[in-house]
Amino acid sequence: MGYSYRDISFGNLFFNPDTGDVLICDNDNVSVNSQDDSAVYGTPRFMAPEIVLGTAKPSRNTDLYSLAVLLFYMFMLNHPLEGKLEADIKCMDIHAMNLLYGKRPIFIFDPDDKSNRPVKGYHDNAIIYWDIYPQSLRDLFTESFTVGLRQPNRRVTEKQWLDTFANLMGGIVVCPSCGSEVFFDEQKEMMSVAHTCWRCQGPVKIPASFVIGRSRVLITSQTKLYSYHLFGDNDMSKIAGVVVQNPNNPNLWGIRNETSENWTYVKPDGTQTTVPPGKTAAIARDVKINFGQRIGEFR
Ligand SMILES: [Zn+2]
Repeated sequence: MGYSYRDISFGNLFFNPDTGDVLICDNDNVSVNSQDDSAVYGTPRFMAPEIVLGTAKPSRNTDLYSLAVLLFYMFMLNHPLEGKLEADIKCMDIHAMNLLYGKRPIFIFDPDDKSNRPVKGYHDNAIIYWDIYPQSLRDLFTESFTVGLRQPNRRVTEKQWLDTFANLMGGIVVCPSCGSEVFFDEQKEMMSVAHTCWRCQGPVKIPASFVIGRSRVLITSQTKLYSYHLFGDNDMSKIAGVVVQNPNNPNLWGIRNETSENWTYVKPDGTQTTVPPGKTAAIARDVKINFGQRIGEFR
């Protein structure tokens, strides 16, 4: 909306662990992007390097940096710049912090600079969690904390995060052996690498998927399509379709239209039928559903 929040940090954001609802508070520092009318420059560890160095003021771009730090903490339970270099510091004073977060920031998983890797026994969270997520999410973090460290206009945008997280949610498979949630990784599939469970190391079979634009949703008995998938509106709470099993033949699966619009069901031979609201479209390979704005395809 053209505003800068200026102080994304642990103190100002809350998540409801039961529903995932987000609460953002402490909005008194919000200002028009790049307009400096507040003394707030952010919270240590969340401030962009250019603010730590004193060469820039809070802006939309520095918010994007703080957002990436917060997300990294949420998913990896570690700060993205706290690896060996942090472990080697004997006294974490202002000089050390300026070096680590401003003058010489190095991403702990920088593919070209291994000097700041997480230290085993000290940064175990980062080591454990990094590999659990698909490459698409690791790529966004790598971009955020390599090129994005020094080029504020190259930082990952909200839309990129939302698209990736939507696929993360749509790519959850439950391990048949231990019940853990495992994320589908498109790169593994492209390279013909089998998925395994991060917990018990057992094999995890990836079900068929439904592809809508850049979204990919794995088809399980629990799968739901959201407004986001059909309309690209970032609404991942409004249900637009649910996977259902035919009560007379549980082997026959379909997607029930939970919207108020007709869907068009397109068979591989091109014949079309209408799926009105409340009705179910059968799931079959290479069948397409035209939702109006977007077309989805079973694969
Ligand atoms: Zn398992």
